[in-house]
Amino acid sequence: MHQPESMPTRGPHTIPLETRRESLVARIADNQRYDLAIIGGGATGLGLALDAASRGYSVVVVEATDFAQGTSSRSTKLVHGGVRYLAQGNVSLVYEALHERTTLLNNAPHLAQPLAFVMPCYKFWEQSFYGVGLVLYDALAGRKSLGRTRFLNKTRTLQDLPNLNTRGLKGAIKYWDGQFDDARLALALGRTAAQHGALLLNYCEAVALTHADGSVSGLIVRDTETDQRYAIQASCVVNAAGVWVDALRDLDAQATQEKHSKIVAPSQGVHIVVDRDFLPGDHALIVPHTTDGRVLFAVPWLGKVIIGTTDTPRHDLSREPTPFKEELEFILRESARYLARAPQRDDIKSLWVGLRPLVKPPQDDSGNTKKISREHTILISKSKLVTVTGGKWTTYRAMAQDVLTQCIKANLLAQRASCLTENLPLVGAQSGEVISHQMSVAPSIAAYGDEATYLNTLPGTQRALGGGLTEAMVRFAVRHEYARTVEDVLARRSRLLFLDAALALSVADAVGQIIAEETGQSGNVAAFKKLAQHYLTLPAA
Ligand SMILES: Cc1cc2nc3c(=O)[nH]c(=O)nc-3n(C[C@H](O)[C@H](O)[C@H](O)COP(=O)(O)OP(=O)(O)OC[C@H]3O[C@@H](n4cnc5c(N)ncnc54)[C@H](O)[C@@H]3O)c2cc1C
Repeated sequence: MHQPESMPTRGPHTIPLETRRESLVARIADNQRYDLAIIGGGATGLGLALDAASRGYSVVVVEATDFAQGTSSRSTKLVHGGVRYLAQGNVSLVYEALHERTTLLNNAPHLAQPLAFVMPCYKFWEQSFYGVGLVLYDALAGRKSLGRTRFLNKTRTLQDLPNLNTRGLKGAIKYWDGQFDDARLALALGRTAAQHGALLLNYCEAVALTHADGSVSGLIVRDTETDQRYAIQASCVVNAAGVWVDALRDLDAQATQEKHSKIVAPSQGVHIVVDRDFLPGDHALIVPHTTDGRVLFAVPWLGKVIIGTTDTPRHDLSREPTPFKEELEFILRESARYLARAPQRDDIKSLWVGLRPLVKPPQDDSGNTKKISREHTILISKSKLVTVTGGKWTTYRAMAQDVLTQCIKANLLAQRASCLTENLPLVGAQSGEVISHQMSVAPSIAAYGDEATYLNTLPGTQRALGGGLTEAMVRFAVRHEYARTVEDVLARRSRLLFLDAALALSVADAVGQIIAEETGQSGNVAAFKKLAQHYLTLPAA
C-alpha cells in the first residue's frame, strides 16, 4: 500500500496532508497496481474510498471535475432517516438511515449537527395522523434519538417559527433530524481516506476501461488540466459516477459486447436560498404534503434559509442543470402558503439544481420518479465492473460497506480487516476535542473543527474576503483540500456560491489572486463569474 508522504501527527495540532497536484499526478503516473480503483468523487465514491483504505486496501479515486461537484454538493443538507419513507412502509430503510444519522453526527461533529423540524398542522386530524408516524420515527431511533417528538400548541409553534402563516393554524409537531455541509463532508471523507493512503485526483476523468480475458483490469484516465492520459491497473474497478454511471456501463458493454439497459432515471431537485429573516430561529419547517403531494423544506443553513425541493424527471445529464419555470413557481407558491412574509423572486440569493440518481426498476419507463427506488443498487457486470448508485447521502457509509461485501464475495478483493468506519472520526474531528457547531449560523472557522488551530498558522487569517471566507482559508483549500479553481473554493470549500451568488461574484478576483500565488495558475476566474451568473438567473416569470 502506498503511504502518504507525511502522515499527520495526531492530537490537537494535527498537520493536514498536502494535496499538491504535481505529486498526486506523479503517483498516478507511477503505474502502480491498486486493489481498488473508484470512478467518481462524490459521497458514494469517497465514502467507499475511506472504508476500503481504512481496511488496508490500496485505493485510487478519480473524479472528472471536482470532488462533490455533482449531486453531492446540491442536496437539501439533511442527515435524515427519511420520514416520508416511513409513510411508504419502508421501515428497514428508515431504521438503517437513523443509525447512519448518528454515526455521521459522531464522526464529523464540525460538519453535521442535530436540527429540530417543525411540521405545522392546519387541520385537526393532521396532528394525530403525522404525530403517530413521528413518534414511531423517534422510537425507531431508540437510544440514537436526537430529541423527543413533541406536540406543540399554536403559541409554542409560533415561538419556534415566528414567520409562520397563522391563518387556520392548529399547532405543530416537532421532531429531530440532522443537517450537514455536504460538500465539506465529501472532502473530509476523501481527505481521511488519503490519510489512510488512498490516492485521490480531481480533474481526472475515466475515459476508457481496460479488459483482460473478458474482465475489467483497469482504466484509462485523462488529466483534464493537461490532457495527459494515464493507465491505472486495479483488481476491482467500481463505477460510482452518480447519475453518470450508465456512460461507464456503456463503455464496459461496448468492450465485452454485453447487452444492458440504462439503470438511472435522473430526477431534478431545485433549491432557492433566501435571508434568515424569512425563517428566524433555529428550527426547520417541513411541509409533508404540498398541493401536489410532495415534501417541502425550509431549512436554516449557514446563516441563510434553503427552500426546496422539487422532483422533476429529467433526461439530459447537464453538469449545471437549469431550473424549470414551474419548479421556481412551485417553491415560491408553496412558501407563500406557509410563511406570513414570503420570499419573492427578488429575495433569491442563489438558486441551484441537483440531479438524483434514482434507480430505474427494470422495464419501468413510466417516467414517474417519485415511485422509483431511493435505495442504492449494486450491479456487477459480466466483465466484473462494479456499479453502485442510488441511495442517499445519509447512508453513504452503509453503501460503502455493502459494496465491499459484494466485491469480496465476487472475489474481486481479498478478505481483509472488517469495516472500521462506524467509529472513525473524519479530519477535523480527530483530536478528541469536544466540538459542537451549529450548522444554522453563518459560516466560520468552526467548520474546520480541530484543524482550525493549524489554519490559524497560515498567512491571511485576519484578512476577511467576505461571507466568512479568509485569505488563510483559500490557502488551506489549495494546499490541503485539493482546490484548483475559484469555483472549487467558492462553491465547495466555502459554500458562498450556494449561499449568496452575488457576494461570491464580488470576491472571485481576490480568491483568484490567492490561488495564483499558491499554484501559479489563474484559478479560472472568468469561468466562475459566468457560473455565478447562472446561480443568479431565474427562469423567466
Ligand atoms: C435535490 C436533491 C436533494 C437531496 N437531498 C438529500 C438530503 O437532504 N439528504 C440525503 O441524505 N440525500 C439527499 N440527496 C441524495 C444525495 O445527494 C445523493 O444520493 C448523493 O449525493 C449521490 O452521491 P454520488 O456520489 O452517488 O453522486 P455524485 O455526487 O453525483 O458523484 C458522482 C461523481 O462521479 C463523477 N464522474 C462522472 N463520470 C465520471 C468519469 N467518467 N470519470 C470520473 N468521474 C466521473 C462526477 O463528476 C461526480 O462528481 C439529495 C439529492 C438531490 C438531487
